[in-house]
Amino acid sequence: MMAPPMMDAERTMQFLFALRSKGVTDKRVLEAMEKVDRGLFVRGHFAGRAYEDLPLPIACGQTISQPGIVGLMTQALEVQPRDKVLEVGTGSGYQAAILSQLARRVYTVDRHRRLVMEAREVFDALDLTNVTTIVGDGSFGLPDQAPFDRIVVTAAAEDPPGPLLAQLRTGGIMVVPVGQSDTVQSLIKVTKTESGLEYEELAPVRFVPLVEGLGQD
Ligand code: SAH
Repeated sequence: MMAPPMMDAERTMQFLFALRSKGVTDKRVLEAMEKVDRGLFVRGHFAGRAYEDLPLPIACGQTISQPGIVGLMTQALEVQPRDKVLEVGTGSGYQAAILSQLARRVYTVDRHRRLVMEAREVFDALDLTNVTTIVGDGSFGLPDQAPFDRIVVTAAAEDPPGPLLAQLRTGGIMVVPVGQSDTVQSLIKVTKTESGLEYEELAPVRFVPLVEGLGQD
């Protein structure tokens, strides 16, 4: 027999419990993640599993990241209310929606037009007016909007992309998964200081690769 659908409050409690058990303890991050309904960002077949701590397939052969990892990345970014944030890899739009709760403005770029359009629909439905969506190759950043206070890359690069490091302001933080695709990668936090770049390894992760150029759809 199928279990009855879980009540909203109970589902939310379990969702937050899973985040805490993964090390997401920052109150503002937990509040943002409580507010943004992940169910709106997962379409079709897997929508029913949106509240589980799992990555799930989205269109264009991409994935929406696991909530625990989204939480850890957001926490590591230490986003401040006045911050201008760049996200490379819009995907479903879930990470950008969470950042929109914490930052002044979020720019999110994806190489797949379809994903950007679908994410834009959800941002509009939620009235997230501080999110700007862009179709493009995000590995070059957005020179016109630079410098950024925070940059998050949600696809794995072999090294933190140079143009993105250049577009991070002094005192800024970038979080990026680094390593070959199809292997375990390392989530890295880069802090740009007066005297150079500081690197901290946060966790082993698995992300789809950062790919050059625009996608087919
Ligand atoms: N942050 C997303 C998950 C992203 S999955 C979420 O919350 O759902 C990684 C995304 O990075 C994919 O959508 C992929 O199309 C995108 N991507 C890969 N290489 C890219 C590039 N060079 N520029 C922009 N987006 C890229």
